[in-house]
Order: sequence, then structure tokens, then C-alpha cells
Amino acid sequence: MSTTIAPKRYTITAALPYTNGPIHIGHLAGVYVPADIYARYLRLTGKDVAFVCGSDEHGVAISMKAKKEGVTPKEVIDKYHGMIKTSFEDFGITFDNYSRTSAAVHHDTASGFFKKLYEQGDFIEETTAQLYDEEAKQFLADRFVIGTCPKCGNEEAYGDQCENCGSSLNATDLINPKSTITGSVPSTKETTHWFLPLDRYEDFLRDWILKGHKDDWKPNVYGQCKSWIDSGLEPRAVTRDLDWGIPVPVKGGEGKVLYVWFDAPIGYISSTKEWAERENKDWEPYWKDKDTKLVHFIGKDNIVFHCIIFPSILKAHGDYILPENVPANEFLNLEGNKLSTSKNWAVWLHEYLEDFSGMQDVLRYTLTANAPETKDNDFTWKDFQARNNNELVAIFGNFINRVVVLTNKYYDGVIPNPSDFTSVDSETLDELKKYPEIISSSLERYRFREAGQELMNLARLGNKYLADAEPWKVIKEDEERVKTIMFVALQIASGLAVLSEPFLPFTSDKLKSILGVRSSAVETSWNEVSSKDILLPPGHKIGQSELLFRKIEDSEIQAQLDKLEATKKANQQENKALMPQKDTITFDDFSKLDMRVGTIVEAEKMPKAKKLLVLKVDTGLDVRTIVSGIAESFTPEEIVGKKVTVLINLAPRALRGVESEGMILMTENTEGKLVFVNPDNSSDSSGDGAGNGVSNGATIN
Ligand SMILES: [Zn+2]
Repeated sequence: MSTTIAPKRYTITAALPYTNGPIHIGHLAGVYVPADIYARYLRLTGKDVAFVCGSDEHGVAISMKAKKEGVTPKEVIDKYHGMIKTSFEDFGITFDNYSRTSAAVHHDTASGFFKKLYEQGDFIEETTAQLYDEEAKQFLADRFVIGTCPKCGNEEAYGDQCENCGSSLNATDLINPKSTITGSVPSTKETTHWFLPLDRYEDFLRDWILKGHKDDWKPNVYGQCKSWIDSGLEPRAVTRDLDWGIPVPVKGGEGKVLYVWFDAPIGYISSTKEWAERENKDWEPYWKDKDTKLVHFIGKDNIVFHCIIFPSILKAHGDYILPENVPANEFLNLEGNKLSTSKNWAVWLHEYLEDFSGMQDVLRYTLTANAPETKDNDFTWKDFQARNNNELVAIFGNFINRVVVLTNKYYDGVIPNPSDFTSVDSETLDELKKYPEIISSSLERYRFREAGQELMNLARLGNKYLADAEPWKVIKEDEERVKTIMFVALQIASGLAVLSEPFLPFTSDKLKSILGVRSSAVETSWNEVSSKDILLPPGHKIGQSELLFRKIEDSEIQAQLDKLEATKKANQQENKALMPQKDTITFDDFSKLDMRVGTIVEAEKMPKAKKLLVLKVDTGLDVRTIVSGIAESFTPEEIVGKKVTVLINLAPRALRGVESEGMILMTENTEGKLVFVNPDNSSDSSGDGAGNGVSNGATIN
């Protein structure tokens, strides 16, 4: 924990979601759940918090989506802004303000920033040749252009980034560029842009991050910053030739807009202004007072913007504080595959709520338990079910249910007066008092997984205490003792109601209502769980038991897995270019094919040919050379000894100077992977006719 004086206030930001699609579990796990846990925790400890976010509504992705769907960008953003905002509310994300970058307050704020930096001479102006689509009469940058990546050869690299090798690119770097609007080959045309010379901020960044935050920033964040700074920073364009965005507010800026990465982070400031206006507060201390702690919650793809570019903009401006921490998460995968909006490989929040109505906390809990804090992590439905059934139901839910049911059964819901505490009672109550500090300590270090597990440990403490004490047995011989047991258990239940709030807000609320402590004189604050000896006083009456969690059945999990399987199949269908059926052939034509079972006895790579392997195949008649285009799918080592189906009477053909005498039959499996047309493996004898084994749709390589 920090040794400096406690901050006077906190400004917590969560990455602005792009309004080109709804929100999925990856967004929630990476950014919004941890940010919300942190903000709720701070509020519970009495801190002054501004927790802000909003929709990012500018940029090429939105412009493109609008063009593709034949609607205006405004129609796209209105649709998704509404959906996203609703999802956040549904999942209990307690933003103090959720704004949008198309709002006037944001246009003014971002425009003002640009003007001030422009007037201070913080930008450099450069005229360069850029790609231009003559048909669309538009400059092409970022996602408006694809071409071959100069670094890895990927033929579908974008004008800002190659998704194959991760290189950051300029549109003009692409080989064979093509407009994604019209498909035409672009020309080049001169245009003027403003650049933020990041190289001028290298010393500042080195000092501030590499020296100043060596110990308190997460290693993944620090490491990425270090690698950016060490590889040398270059000027970065802050304007674009586009018609969707915030107009460049200076002379010569006509027809240009601010680059989305210049305006988006300023959106945090605009959102704070909007909030302050509504709440009749002054926004400035939240961004300008050095006693404010500013924390950005983001995913790892945004590190460079929040740690390098935005701080340089704030530094250039001069009046602003810098983030104290940027606890960026890695990525969450779904059932082993990368989450993808375009491939629909996701669990969408609105769909989750259709299938698991009222079970927001289960998802919050599971995503926290699996948070990709230090490395990419996987969400699986089986794990989701296990976390729910084995932890939330069997431990937390079971404990609370027993406490509430027994209190009602024995005492009509009134907290009993305890008699003497045994050493186990006292130790248990002492343990309870440690939990606010234990959980705080994890949260202050942005270790949300650990914090969530500590909360569950408190539930374990209660569950074990009750199971060991067995009040349902003791009641027959020692009624006084049972009063003490139930009193102790009720204190733990009360502690759980308070400490679970950041993680399981809906459950906490329900539990507080069952215990009758919501908005009443007996409501307890976070710190009082430590400082108070009695959380629920004797004589206080609680309500009836209600199930906090329900068991999730195997069939519900299977339904989710089936849904994903269907998505996979749909994607494969879409990916396959459907070739029309060729002309009909007669049986006589077919019977001309002489197919045999052969064994690959040798295999090696064809020099200087990426796709080709040179094979020696024992056909039963002879051992012959066959050149096969399978080198990208198989290594020579893995196929030697393999039985394959061979077309042996194909006319010989020279491939790269090697004569190929036949063809190995291949097909694609359901994942689109190349596989051998396998002769029956139980058959040993080479040379059997295998004509009947050729499946429909087999492709011949
Ligand atoms: Zn590449």
C-alpha cells in the first residue's frame, strides 16, 4: 500500500466502449467489473468518488459500420449507446455518469484541448502523401484500407494494424493496398495533418513511469510501457481526413476531424463535467488537484493510449494530474477461443440475462474469480457452473440459508442473547473482524481475484463454524448454547452482507433486506465490521429466508455449449466460398480413377516452397514420389508411417523439377482443417482398392 497521505478524492475511469456492437463478458471481466468493485469499495469506506465512463462514438469503425448497413453513423451510435448503457445498469455497474463522445460538452472539451495545444506550439504540422480513394472521394486510413503486412505477409492487414503479427502500421506501409469502401486500388494524394511529437515526452515518460511506477504498476502494464519507450517514440497524428468526428478547430482543419484516440480519453473529463454540472459540484478538483487519485481501468489493447499518449497530452496541456495507476487486464477467452464481436464468439450480456434471469452476481463472481489480471484467461461454462454450484450455492448460500431458517425456527427471527463465548466463538468473531482489512489490502493492489476469494473465505468461515457447532443437534440438550452459536453465526452473516457489496451487489442487497439492516439504524459500514463488537444486536428481528443462489443444471450448461457450437458451424458456412457443383460425371468416368491404400515411408520439405512436401509412398505396387501441397498443415515427421488414400493413375507432373506420380487424397474436417482421407486403419495390407472410401466433397491436393 502507498505510504503517501490518503487521497482527498478519487477519479475512476473505465474504458469508453466503442458503440459498434453490444457488450460481452470480455468487456465486463477486463474493465467494468473490476472498476465497479473498486468504486463501490471506495464509496463503502466513505471516500469521495467520481466513477465515469461513456460511449466512444467517433472513429472509423463506426463510420464503416454505418456505410455497410446503409445508415448514418448517428443511427449506429444511438442504437448501441442505448444497448450498452442498459447492459451496464442491468449488471449493477455504478457509474456516477455515463456520457457519450457525441455530446456537446465533449465536443467543446476536446476541441478546447486541441486549440490550447495548438496555440502552445505542441503539435507539428506535416504534409504527407496519403492513400486516396478516387471513387469514394475520400482519404483512406486505418480500417478503410487493407493490404499485405510488410512485416509478416498477412494479406489482410489494416491500415493501422496487422492483426496477425500485432505490428502498428501506417496505411502507406501496406503492400497492394485496397480500399475497403469501394475495393478500388487507391492513389496517393497530399494532405496536411497535425502530429503530437511523442519523442519530446520520452524523458518525462521515462521518469514518471519507468522510475516512478516501477513498483506499483502491474508488471504487464509496466513491461509494455517500457518496451514502447525503449524502442523510441515517434510523432503520432492527432487528426484524420474523415467526415465523422470532432472537426479540427483551427485554420486548415476544414474537412478533417480529431483522431479518435485524441478525443476519446478526453471523454473522461467531459463525462466528469457532465456529472458535476448535474450534481452541482466543481469538476476541476477531480482532474486538477494533486490530492486526487486518478485510476484508469482498461484492457491491454489500450495501454499505449492511456500510459503514453493521453498522459503526454495531459502533460502538454499543463493543468492536469496524471493517472496514479492503470491496472490494465489481459484478455478473456471463451471456451479456448478469442472473443470476437464479428465472429459472434461471445456471451452477450443481454442474452445472458435472457437465459439466467436475475443471476447477474453469478457472472460478476465468476468473471472476478477468473479475471485475466496477469495473463489471458479462459471462461468456460463448466467452470461457471462449478463456481455457482460449489461456491455460491454450497458455501455462501447454504450458510445464509441455515442461519436465517434456524433463527426463525428457534427464535421467531429475533437475534438471541448470547451466553459465554467458547474459545472457538471468540476466535471466529476475531477472524470476522480481520476481513475488511484483508479484502481492502487486495483491492488497494487491484487484485480483484484474490479479494473475491477472500470474501468466499469469510463465507467458508461461517459455513464451517455452523457445521462444526451443529446447533440443530445441540438444541435438544443445551438451548443456552444454541443462542450463542446463532448469535455468532448471525454476526458473520451480517459481515458478509456488507463486505459482499462490491462483488455481489444484488445479493448483498437481498441479504441486507433479509437481515433487516437495509437503511436502518443497524446498517454497518465497511470499517465497522472491524471496529464494532456487535453488528446485529440481540432483540433485532430478521425476515424470512429467501434463496440467494440457485443450482445450475447440466442441461442449462449444455444449452450454452450447443449455442456456441451452432455459432462455430455458422461461421464455417460463412467462411466457405461456395463453389457451384461441377458437371456430372458417369460411373465409367469415376471407375477410371485407380485409388489405393498407400503408406508414407519418407517425407521432406521441398526447398524454397512453403506449401509443398516431397513424399515417398509405398502403394503396394511400388514406392513412388508424390509431391503434395500439405506442408502448411503437416510436418514431415508427423506423417511418416501414415496410411493414406492415393490416386495412382494420375498423369505424372513435374512440380519444381520433381516428378510427382500420383496424388494423396485430402479433405477438410468440420473445423476447416485439412485431413487425410483415411483408409480403414485396422487394415494392414497395402494395395487394396479404396474407391468406396472417398467421401463426397473431398478435395484433391
Ligand atoms: Zn503482420
